[in-house]
Amino acid sequence: MNDTNPLPPNDWPELQAGWVWLCGAGPGDPGLLTLHALNALRQADVIIYDALVDSRIMDWARSDAELIYAGKRGGKPSAKQRDISLHLVELAKAGKRVLRLKGGDPFVFGRGGEEAQTLVQHGIPVRIIPGISAGIGGLAYAGIPVTHRDVNQSVTFVTGHDQSGQTPSSLNWRAISEGSQVLVIYMGMKHVERITGELLAAGRPANEPVAVVTQATTPDQRVLETTLGTITQDLEAAGMAPPAIICVGRSVEMRQVLDWQSMMAGEAPRNLDPLGRGRPAEAS
Ligand code: SAH
Repeated sequence: MNDTNPLPPNDWPELQAGWVWLCGAGPGDPGLLTLHALNALRQADVIIYDALVDSRIMDWARSDAELIYAGKRGGKPSAKQRDISLHLVELAKAGKRVLRLKGGDPFVFGRGGEEAQTLVQHGIPVRIIPGISAGIGGLAYAGIPVTHRDVNQSVTFVTGHDQSGQTPSSLNWRAISEGSQVLVIYMGMKHVERITGELLAAGRPANEPVAVVTQATTPDQRVLETTLGTITQDLEAAGMAPPAIICVGRSVEMRQVLDWQSMMAGEAPRNLDPLGRGRPAEAS
């Protein structure tokens, strides 16, 4: 690591011995890290990080920091979760300055709440550093605004698995289908057929636009534009693999005008008015 201090002058908090900072690393692009996260990386003695933390971010750790990988993927039953939390407790009790680094935001489908609770229950002081969640920032990198005035006044974040690895049985798909114009589904790839089947059965149209964004914000980002009726075969044909965010709803059409990464590469927007409003976007 480069040991010159990259942080702008500020009264940055000190990561003290015996503390754990539970921190989001964003969806991938290191530029989406917060300054608090960078400040934490600069100070931590030990960093316990997840599979979804981009390796370029780990390059900003102190060169003598101990890096511990706590990868856990695919919604498998999480026998290790308790071990990770207790490991954090042990490290803090040993007087280390501990950084727990998680992909996206630590409190969005990331079990950060459980880890923080265990720490507090053991009397360990914690600081929470939010991060940019894949379901918002990852979609923005695909040119999809998670809300848009002409499309949705609500958005629902859904997880495709529960603790057992199954589609969450507690979810009322009909209520979700009827109640929210746009759905943002995390961890939805494994059960994509079941989830889209539930949405179709609940009355969402088969031609409703859907986008699947894999490895969002990284150099390997891929975006599939499809529909609820065709997603399963299109995904198979495209050979796309998790991690993926699935966005269901008309905001996906905005990508036709807002696919800024293609525009940066010199492509023209496909459609300047995909929602067919026929007026300047900013006119109210
Ligand atoms: N706390 C994380 C979510 C953890 S759950 C956050 O706030 O983003 C793991 C799921 O997040 C993945 O299965 C996938 O659905 C999503 N995810 C995380 N990073 C992603 C990325 N770079 N691209 C696409 N999906 C991502």
